[in-house]
Amino acid sequence: MHYNFMIAGSGISGAVFAHEATKRGAKCLVLEKRPHTGGNIHCGQIEGINVHKYGAHIFHTHDKAIWDYINQFAEFNNYVNSPIANYKGEIYNLPFNMNTFCKLWGIATPAEAAAILERQRAEIGGEPKNLEEQAIKLVGRDIFEKLIKGYTEKQWGRPCSELPAFIIKRLPVRMAYDNNYFNDRYQGIPSGGYNMIVDRLLDGIEVRLNTDFFDGREGFFDVADRVVYTGMIDRYFGNRFGKLEYRSLRLETKVLPEANHQGVAVMNYTDRETPYTRVIEHKHFEFGTQEKTVVTYEYPAEWSEGAEAYYPINDGRNQALYERYRALAEQEKNTLFLGRLAEYKYYDMDDAIAAALEAAGRILK
Ligand code: FAD
Ligand code: UDP
Repeated sequence: MHYNFMIAGSGISGAVFAHEATKRGAKCLVLEKRPHTGGNIHCGQIEGINVHKYGAHIFHTHDKAIWDYINQFAEFNNYVNSPIANYKGEIYNLPFNMNTFCKLWGIATPAEAAAILERQRAEIGGEPKNLEEQAIKLVGRDIFEKLIKGYTEKQWGRPCSELPAFIIKRLPVRMAYDNNYFNDRYQGIPSGGYNMIVDRLLDGIEVRLNTDFFDGREGFFDVADRVVYTGMIDRYFGNRFGKLEYRSLRLETKVLPEANHQGVAVMNYTDRETPYTRVIEHKHFEFGTQEKTVVTYEYPAEWSEGAEAYYPINDGRNQALYERYRALAEQEKNTLFLGRLAEYKYYDMDDAIAAALEAAGRILK
């Protein structure tokens, strides 16, 4: 059998590319090293609850075209992410908004909050050079100390002064009583979980599970005209310049004999001492009414061989190393590098879909 594309990885990036290529008449083979498709958006089912096996996934986008695209494959509910921060038992609303400021400073109006923020932000003059300075410039020292510092240092395993500023810019700061975590126009959870989306994207396409691209690398180039690679870029090149660093997670899932454990889908533990960063109560993503509940504790961990690489660490050193790999990737005329791991980018699902659609449009004119 000869294929036009051999796609390594069946996450959202690989699945969207395979779908688009197939739609345009190309013959695709998808290889997936895990025993299931979907990459990090894969869900399991426990006690009738869809469990986000690789961490909580909320779909959100500002782009109507991406929203329309994903809605072809599932119906989305009206879930709005409104996580809670738990700092040593003190409860605050996220993202940083009037509810947070009110609880923290006992104030009530945007003008009062703005005055405090302005005073605290003044600590940082000029362009912030790292995450710590960026955070203080965004929300001042009080919030940095209680809601950012501990969480971030656990999550990334590095001091905030050594992390890139962009990580914290993801979070909105709002002078309104509005707990919606995202600024995006469109948001929701696919009713029935994410697997249906991936199944529909890959419908009619040959998929080989438990198959690592590197096990048959040379052979795969013989059976396909081109390769679309969505795994780790450094591994593709045999780590020849050294390994890129990633953050990993240890996810511990428990079934609890109660209907409602924490009253919210996502609770962040923002102190330094609690070893986990988040507790996810999955049923709340779909307003579940099951008798039991399933919770997952997210323990951040340094990535090492054999673990899942969840987050690229886009600090100066790793970014410079990535650029060297990217230069090699540009020479690989028959391989396209796509997705969070191959592009070493902190992509959300909508970004990954946009990149896959762009690549498919470009290559399959
Ligand atoms: P992946 O999902 O990592 O898929 C890559 C696939 O390739 C995997 O299945 C892997 O097994 C396979 N693979 C790798 N190497 C090989 C190989 N050599 N051979 C065969 N197969 C291989 N985004 C959001 O929009 N909203 C969220 O709320 C959100 N929450 C997140 C929470 C966590 C904890 C994490 C880690 C990410 C979150 N994301 C979220 C980001 C989202 O997971 C990614 O944008 C998306 O999954 C990227 O898809 P991908 O296909 O590029 O990569
Ligand atoms: N963050 C924080 N406190 C929180 C939530 C997030 O300091 O309660 C910081 C942390 O550095 C995190 C970043 O903001 O890595 C981005 O948060 P997001 O929730 O977008 O992370 P993700 O869901 O991608 O893990």
